[in-house]
Amino acid sequence: MTDSPTPTTQASLNRKAAPKTDYKPADVSAVRRYRRRFVVRLWAVRHSRALEWVYKQFADLFLLLHPVWKALGYQRVEGPVKFVERHVKGFLFDCRMCGQCVLSSTGMSCPMNCPKQLRNGPCGGVRANGNCEVEPDMPCVWVQAWNGSQQMVENKAILAVQKPVDQSLRETSAWLRTTAQAAARKEAAKTTETPA
Ligand code: SF4
Repeated sequence: MTDSPTPTTQASLNRKAAPKTDYKPADVSAVRRYRRRFVVRLWAVRHSRALEWVYKQFADLFLLLHPVWKALGYQRVEGPVKFVERHVKGFLFDCRMCGQCVLSSTGMSCPMNCPKQLRNGPCGGVRANGNCEVEPDMPCVWVQAWNGSQQMVENKAILAVQKPVDQSLRETSAWLRTTAQAAARKEAAKTTETPA
């Protein structure tokens, strides 16, 4: 049996059933337009190991700058940092600004792009071609997450159970949060090391 090059999806059925009009976009289908949106996201997963390294350098630099963020005030720098974070991560990962980033554990595949927003692996509805059951044209973010994670140095991180999404953190900066948390851990470690 040979695979059909264009699988029947709800979207294709809807298009077939739609009334015919005079406007027929030249050489562009809704599916192709949609697929284009996944190109960069899938590239990020394929290059997860390199991006893991880049992110580590970036996180170290941000931590080094903790005194600067503190002096300026985390709240004051939040606006510009969030602006950059939204655009950089939006372009690379289709980031939804959940504020509690898990890309380092999920092979650089953002789980917030899962229509069910699952944070601990795929549902039972992954299609045979590895696509999502809700959005048939979209590769399942968790299939991608597993592929990406297996290329990374921290390839076991995907097995850690993630907490449910804290919706109150939406639209906040994961970069600043992670930095402030790492700085607090560093300071706490220093305090416990200091002899009484
Ligand atoms: S996990 Fe959250 S912060 Fe990270 S890329 Fe996805 S939506 Fe953005």
